[in-house]
Amino acid sequence: MLFEEKAICASIDSMMQKHLPREEVHRRDQLADPPDHLLPLFAEMGLFHFCLPESDGGMGGSWQHLSFIQERLGYHATMAALLFNRVACFGVMTLVKSGSVEQKEKFLPQLLNGEGAFALALSEAEAGSDAGALQTRAEKQGDNWCIKGRKIWISGAASALRLVVACRTDLTKTGGQGVSLFLVPPDALGVSMTKLEKIGNRCSLSYDIGFDEVMVPDSARIGAEGRGFDALKKTLFYARSGLASAVVGTAQAAVSCATSHAKDRVQFGKPIGSFQVIAHRLAKMQTDVDLARLLARELARAIDTNESCSRLAAQAKVVATKTLKRVTDDGMQIMASAGYAADSDMQRFWRDARLYSFGEGSSEILLDLIASDMGLGRGLSA
Ligand SMILES: Cc1cc2nc3c(=O)[nH]c(=O)nc-3n(C[C@H](O)[C@H](O)[C@H](O)COP(=O)(O)OP(=O)(O)OC[C@H]3O[C@@H](n4cnc5c(N)ncnc54)[C@H](O)[C@@H]3O)c2cc1C
Repeated sequence: MLFEEKAICASIDSMMQKHLPREEVHRRDQLADPPDHLLPLFAEMGLFHFCLPESDGGMGGSWQHLSFIQERLGYHATMAALLFNRVACFGVMTLVKSGSVEQKEKFLPQLLNGEGAFALALSEAEAGSDAGALQTRAEKQGDNWCIKGRKIWISGAASALRLVVACRTDLTKTGGQGVSLFLVPPDALGVSMTKLEKIGNRCSLSYDIGFDEVMVPDSARIGAEGRGFDALKKTLFYARSGLASAVVGTAQAAVSCATSHAKDRVQFGKPIGSFQVIAHRLAKMQTDVDLARLLARELARAIDTNESCSRLAAQAKVVATKTLKRVTDDGMQIMASAGYAADSDMQRFWRDARLYSFGEGSSEILLDLIASDMGLGRGLSA
């Protein structure tokens, strides 16, 4: 670990131990109470400034630092890393890459000061993996747009500073064409929200959102009209990188939890970690996490050097999420009843882990993307 990384790591560790210790993570998970109190603390530590270019008042835009922060937050509490991602990726990077001067002036200070996050409102009941099938419409009325439709499973929507809503603005176009993005206040007239219940990630609240003739000015549009998917693509690498790093951190926490249990738990007169089958399983788990970390770090490096990284972003997310799923399952096997108990960290890792291999781009769709980058799949003709 570099000296700088050690310093970041130590300051995150001490902040998290003070403001979101393990027992507090457990309490919040049980009550589905998001740790929003962390946002001003992240801001005070200047963590969001790492991703902001100097031209926008930041610290030079090293995404490798960001990836490291996300991993360490994921190690302490996935709920904290997901919240951080909604500010850094859906908020700051969306504005940096596609926002207007006015949008940056208005929202960057709020995001950087920890006043809230953005929520990405893309998915619909009939448009999940096939995001281009979205039916929410925005119709131009003078200088305004009128939004009608529904979005589903939108994380952190009610407390967001703004929803980034993907709407079809050109009905003659299909798929990813003719879609525009709008910044919509969550309390705008005509917006209604219903909280959805779920089995994991309970502190990242999910909402079904109705848009009933919601009026927004043209200045709320992010990026060019009809080119919303292009704007989304520009921030996708950051979101995938953030998620992959956070997931690697949580996977490391799961391996550490199972390892320490294997050293303490005695059966047949010996710690269970002395049985080769358990020791090897843990060794494989740690090796898998280390490999996933390498890929996540390589993605962050490629982002910093402006390399083309859509394949790498897909690979990093697929590998990190698969690794987390496997190590939490193995961790549960190693801890057995101690892991299955409602107050164990392992059961929370295990429940949370199930989401990431389909949320924010399923592994199947990402493997399609990797295959297509290799000249395979649907694009290959005889
Ligand atoms: C807790 C949670 C939080 C979320 N947060 C957000 C959010 O903040 N914003 C947002 O916009 N969305 C959010 N989502 C939605 C999420 O992105 C979708 O769940 C995801 O895109 C998958 O869509 P789906 O659930 O409709 O599955 P489907 O699209 O119905 O897919 C079902 C299965 O079929 C597979 N599949 C589909 N098409 C193909 C194909 N062509 N080839 C091979 N396999 C295929 C998929 O990989 C998957 O395994 C969230 C979802 C959850 C559960």
